[in-house]
Formats: sequence, structure tokens, C-alpha cells
Amino acid sequence: MPTTLIRNADWVIAWDAAASRHVYRRGIDLAFADDRIAFVGKDYAGPADRIIDGAGVMAMPGLIDIHSHPHHEPLYRGIREEHGLANMYMTGLYERGQAFSAPDDAARAACAEFAFCELLLSGVTSLVDISAPWDGWIDLFAQSGLRGFLAPGYASARWYLETDRALSYDWSEQRGRAGFARALEVIDAAIAHPCGRLSGVVSPMQIDTCTEGLLRDSRAAAHERNLPFTVHVSQSVVEVNEMIRRHGLTPIQWADAIGILGPGAILGHALFLDTHSWVRWWTRTDLAILADSGAAVAHCPTPFARYGQIMEHFGAYRDAGVTMGLGTDCSPHNLIEEMRKASIFARIAARDIHAVKVSDFLDAATVGGAAALMRDDLGRIAPGLKADLVLVDLACPQMQPARDPLRALVYHAADRAVRDVFVDGRQVVADRRVLTLDQADAAVRVAAAQQRMEVAAPQRDYRRRAAEDIVPLSLPVAD
Ligand SMILES: [Zn+2]
Repeated sequence: MPTTLIRNADWVIAWDAAASRHVYRRGIDLAFADDRIAFVGKDYAGPADRIIDGAGVMAMPGLIDIHSHPHHEPLYRGIREEHGLANMYMTGLYERGQAFSAPDDAARAACAEFAFCELLLSGVTSLVDISAPWDGWIDLFAQSGLRGFLAPGYASARWYLETDRALSYDWSEQRGRAGFARALEVIDAAIAHPCGRLSGVVSPMQIDTCTEGLLRDSRAAAHERNLPFTVHVSQSVVEVNEMIRRHGLTPIQWADAIGILGPGAILGHALFLDTHSWVRWWTRTDLAILADSGAAVAHCPTPFARYGQIMEHFGAYRDAGVTMGLGTDCSPHNLIEEMRKASIFARIAARDIHAVKVSDFLDAATVGGAAALMRDDLGRIAPGLKADLVLVDLACPQMQPARDPLRALVYHAADRAVRDVFVDGRQVVADRRVLTLDQADAAVRVAAAQQRMEVAAPQRDYRRRAAEDIVPLSLPVAD
């Protein structure tokens, strides 16, 4: 059993089981053997095959990202950041997805490799990847070294636009059922993979694109297999209005009514509650339903903030007792930046410096995500738990002075200070380089795939526009 010792770490974010919280510990040893943490404390006296000097280092738990779409989001760099439709309450989701989509599996493979590198380099060790299944997905995950929670997406309906002010649905229950069956096959194959780090999440894509029957059966399949379940809920005002039109209930009220909430259910976003200022529906029950159900929220501030929207507000969800996790819905795939943005937007929404603390977002990115995934062996540094660890370089200029290294990391340095990453006790990032994948090579392939995607846009767009007319460059190109 090979043992790695981090000797005399300046700082460790360790788990205090008695207080049930993360705490700083100074000048301690941290040892892990195979995939498990073996020792956290003073003066480790056991064997060690490898010794890492802990001087100038903060060891922290690997981060848990419970919402991402790596198979296509890198294609949207330069396209997505300022794209949206005012007539759709600012969201660009529906127009973008119709005009721009990963053209082939080579594009998906390039995107996933590129995104996985960004995630590892920002300290993510566990990833929920919500993607349409593609050939090579499981193998790339295994190669990456990430702890993968594969969430193969499927739906009964496809969105489409005929104008910029109405969302239409093309329904096929048979397509939804076929996707559901295929998703369970992919999940079973991931779990059976010999690397032992892969698992699955049952993932009907959106509350408004799946029939009640498909959602109920998906939730039952997750229960049966003791797997988490995820679905996008309350992610746009358009969706909220559509669900009220169909059922007389908000998306969260309807999800509760059909019995798909509860522990192990992760709601993608749940941003537009009935009380949200962009919705202002007459009921006042969504937050209490979320909290009482035990469902978790995957909060991804970046894509919404780009539309001018923020959660109202993270501290209120936390105070209500909602299990809060974080995700990287779009590029950049940088969970530390999401921690930073979430903390600042929460204070803006609450108009209160004390509404949230940076430790709330460390919790969300570690134990919150672990709870959402029903995994009490992740997200904490304590003996017997999984050796998913990040070593932060305190000498990084943006970490200095490192009086409070968690604040320095979240508010200043972010991924620039992430030096080494271990998953299941195996080193996957060393000295800011990903050991398992090739980001530079993936970047070349992503750029080529983006060109293929843009060429296809006029055939897909509802107004038959060229890509540069849907999303012009930010500056004119001069002669
Ligand atoms: Zn999403």
C-alpha cells in the first residue's frame, strides 16, 4: 500500500467531526495510502513511500462540481458571454442551443478534454457531467483521473423557436423513453468501469421538456439504484411562465406535486423561485418546499449573471436549510471563480455584507456537493475518507500575504494558486500541469470544432442567419 506524506503543512483545511465543520489546522502532517486518507495530525510516525514538503502549502479538500456540460460549453467561448434575447427575459439558452450545437463526437471529445483540464487546474476532483452520451465519454473520464458522475441527458421534448418571443416544444415520448433506457446503460457501464472512480446520475434534462411519466420513472430508477437524480428546474422566467400555464404551479411546486424532490435530487439552478423579483408570482412557498424536501440546489452564478440575473439570495436558501452545491454550467470551468461570484452576488442580492461568508461557499463546493451526491466519503479531510486533495501554493503572488489563505484563494488567486491535485490518492495535477490529458492539443481541436459548428448555424437558426449575424464580434474588424 503506497503511502504519501505531506509533512508539516503550513495550513490544512481539515474536518472537525465533533463540530461538524471545516477548520484550519497549522503545522500538521497529512498521510494517504492508496485511495484513502490515513492520518491527519501532529508527528506522523508511519511508513511513507513519498514525502512532500508541506512548507508553503495549504492542503484542502478536492472541490465537488455538481453541474456541468463539458461536451459543448467550450464551443461557446466568444459566443455565449453577451448573447441573450430581451424578449425571453434576457436568456440566450433557447436561441443559442438551436443555432449552435456540437457538430460531432470529435467536437464533444475535444470539448470534454479541454473542460476537464480547466476543472482539474481549478481544484475540482469530483464532477457531475450532464451531457448527451457520446462515444469515448467513459474512457476519457477514466483517463482524466477525475471522479466522474456521468449524467447522460435525455428529454421527451426539444425546444425550438419560430420567433424570438415564444418557446415551442417538439414532443416525442418515444424519444424520451429511448434516451432514458440508453442513459441507464451508460450509467451501468460507468459504474462497471475498472477504474472504480465512475458513477452516474439519472438526468432527465429539464422540468419543461420531460413528461410527468418520464420524470416519475426516472426518479424511481434513481431510487432503485441508490443514485442521485438531477433535472434543470426554474432556470428561466420563460420556463416558470410555461409551467404555470400548463399546471397552475411553479416548476418547484409541480416537481413537489409529482414526487420527484427529496434527498438525492439535485435541482439545476432553482434560481427563479416564486419570490424572485423577476417572477413575483403570488405564492410564497418555493423556498420552503425546497428546504422541506431535502433536495439540493446546484448553484451556477456565471451564466445567469451574464444575463443580468442573480439568485435572491444564497444566504436565504442556506438559512432555510436547503442543501447548497455549486457548479460550472459554462466556460470558464473554474469552480473557485464560481465561489467568488456566488459570494459577491449574494451580498448584492441581500444588500448585506453579513448575508454570507466565504466558508459558506467552501461548504457548498465540498460537503454540500457531497451531500447532494449522497457521498459522505467525499469533500472532507479526515482519516478514512477518500484522498481527493488540493495543494495550494502559498508563495503564489496572488496568495500573498497569506494571512487567511481561504480568502486569498477565493477572492484573489483562484486557480493560479492550485499547484497539485490528487484524486483517489493518485496525482493528476503536478506543478499546475495536468498529467493525464493534453489541454493544448484539445484547444486546437475545440477551435476547429467551433468553426464546423458556426458553418452549420444558418441551417439550424430559426432566422437562417450566419453565425456572425447571430453573435457579432465584440469589435469590428478593421481593414
Ligand atoms: Zn445546465
